[in-house]
Amino acid sequence: MAKRILITGAAGFLGSHLCDRFLKEGFEVIGMDNLITGDLRNIEHLMKERKFDFHHHDITKFVHAPGELDYILHFASPASPIDYLKIPIQTLKVGSVGTLHCLGLAKEKNARILIASTSEVYGDPLVHPQNEEYYGNVNAIGPRGVYDEAKRFQESITMAYHRFHGLETRIARIFNTYGPRMRLNDGRVIPAFIGQALRGEDLTVFGDGSQTRSFCYVDDQVEGIYRLLLSDYSDPVNIGNPNEISILDFAREIIKLTGTDQEIVFKELPQDDPLQRQPDISRAREILKWEPKVSREEGMKITYDYFKSLSPEELQKREH
Ligand code: NAD
Ligand code: UDP
Repeated sequence: MAKRILITGAAGFLGSHLCDRFLKEGFEVIGMDNLITGDLRNIEHLMKERKFDFHHHDITKFVHAPGELDYILHFASPASPIDYLKIPIQTLKVGSVGTLHCLGLAKEKNARILIASTSEVYGDPLVHPQNEEYYGNVNAIGPRGVYDEAKRFQESITMAYHRFHGLETRIARIFNTYGPRMRLNDGRVIPAFIGQALRGEDLTVFGDGSQTRSFCYVDDQVEGIYRLLLSDYSDPVNIGNPNEISILDFAREIIKLTGTDQEIVFKELPQDDPLQRQPDISRAREILKWEPKVSREEGMKITYDYFKSLSPEELQKREH
């Protein structure tokens, strides 16, 4: 019999790619999403699949799934700083109450659950690169705190269910991931820069652009999550690409990639914007035998082609 998996946040960027992957592996997939930051178009190609079922539902109310369940991937949560600043309470609720509901369901169904945590649990890190032993440097009451603390609570309650109820749990600390199906206007740096280049606008670098990020292509991320779910390891594991770049250099790379002659303009650095970020993936290498395979050049080319294929109306649409 096919294994059954519930994926929350299924209509989002990562959730939709995970639906694709698990269906490809022969799983029966139940996707759940309230579409607050997601888009049904990300999964419309799956709607006719016999093994795919979609539930339009807010998981902060309750989570229920009919029949047996083998696995839960809990990915529902706004993920872009602009999104979670716009809907701070929903962000806190989905990370806390939403996670509680998912854990309760996992316990009821005797299912293994993997939660999508984040490099943001390290805050503005004082240790570089970040390994899983680092406790982090988070400003709980700053604007980003709604996301960071929700995710820290999420990890904490997940470990409590693991220790107290013996639930099978997995924690993926996901570092910046990109690829097709990101929302063009979600404010994250890759869609922001590509959108600006395609519209012929200047690229907005926040601060002096010396802050760094390390970008992981979505297929690599999905492979890491797949392996972690099927592993027997319950402590957190960083999943990301250690190839680090400053945001200013990255803006220059985008100008080269898009073949445009956009200027770079500098805007104020948002409060608590982490100054450096690079995953130490020794644990993932050792336990999951995993490391990213797709270079930034390759991944960005695919991502650029995706955004280029959007309609002109889509390209001009503004949310913020
Ligand atoms: P996304 O915004 O594209 O997807 C999140 C999905 O969750 C959306 O479809 C949204 O509608 C849904 N959702 C939010 N609240 C919900 C609720 N209450 N009930 C049901 N559905 C709800 O974001 P993403 O980039 O795909 O991120 C997915 C997960 O991965 C998030 O948990 C995020 O914190 C985590 N993550 C992502 C990254 C990244 O770089 N993409 C990095 C670290 C962690
Ligand atoms: N950033 C930028 N210009 C933009 C959007 C983002 O310079 O138009 C910067 C942002 O300040 C941060 C980095 O790019 O330092 C990555 O931002 P993103 O929102 O993608 O992710 P996160 O901060 O969560 O890593």
